[in-house]
Amino acid sequence: MSVPPTGSNDCPLCDEEVRLHQVSALNTFFYNCSRCGKFEIGGKLLRTIKELPEIYTNRHILSGYTLESTDSNETALLTVDTAPEIISKKTRLKIDAKARRVLYRIHLRSENMGADVTLDAQVEYPTGYCKGVEEFGLLMKYLADKGFIELDAEAGNVYYCRTTYEGWSEAENLVKELAGSTEVFIAMGVPADETKNALVWAALEEGIVTGLEELGFQPSHRKLADVPRKLNKEAIKRIRESRFVIADYTGHSPLVYAAAGCAVGEGIPVVHLCHKDDAEDWRFDPAEFECILWTTPEQLWMELEKVIKETKELKPPGDA
Ligand SMILES: [Zn+2]
Repeated sequence: MSVPPTGSNDCPLCDEEVRLHQVSALNTFFYNCSRCGKFEIGGKLLRTIKELPEIYTNRHILSGYTLESTDSNETALLTVDTAPEIISKKTRLKIDAKARRVLYRIHLRSENMGADVTLDAQVEYPTGYCKGVEEFGLLMKYLADKGFIELDAEAGNVYYCRTTYEGWSEAENLVKELAGSTEVFIAMGVPADETKNALVWAALEEGIVTGLEELGFQPSHRKLADVPRKLNKEAIKRIRESRFVIADYTGHSPLVYAAAGCAVGEGIPVVHLCHKDDAEDWRFDPAEFECILWTTPEQLWMELEKVIKETKELKPPGDA
């Protein structure tokens, strides 16, 4: 392990002592700070940060950013070029956005909904892009006024709180925003014809489900028998929470058309599939939609995987 150009082991953003740092690439240093999360910082910025007042006095903004990136499983890179950009963008954050970051942290610290959480403002203040403990305290009061948390009397800089139902539900949305949903809703007909039924079943179990799981997605259904027969409230909820929908029109079940329509209305991307033998008698104009025509589960997955990997909105979790 080499010594960073600052000559000390302290976090360059919050002065906390950090155990782990290493040279990750050419003249770039990797830090893992209990307050600021994981980040990389260029050697030039590391050497000169104290002489750059615009950056140095706004280190709390950079901490908030590196923490937010860590929460999204990304490693922020701070350099003399990127740091001013980040500061100028994040300085404009509204109180609501800052408070939601704090709510996210409370959710992270809660063992379950309504569990008591203790937050030390000295440690947590960068979460809300706060300059210090006073601003953090205001955000806590804001969350309590909004009904997202119940706040007990604080002792010094330590806050005792718990999430309300509203707060918990709001935090769940934030978790989804940060991580991006990994759920994929599968809409398939269950053809009455036995041969066709076996084909669709094989396509689901041998092609789609295994393939999606290997890419890090969570398919809504593993068995054809579990695919919903009605577009009920539960199905609509799952469509809304999905990253995308796979609609297989083999057998032309009205349910598949309804599910695809519902997804389009919600702005959720849809990948259209149909067995080659059924690629007629459409209820929509297939020329307007790209549709994968398949014959075997293997060929279906090969084409589907290609579409998923090549389409920005569908990309697997963690893929840049
Ligand atoms: Zn730090």
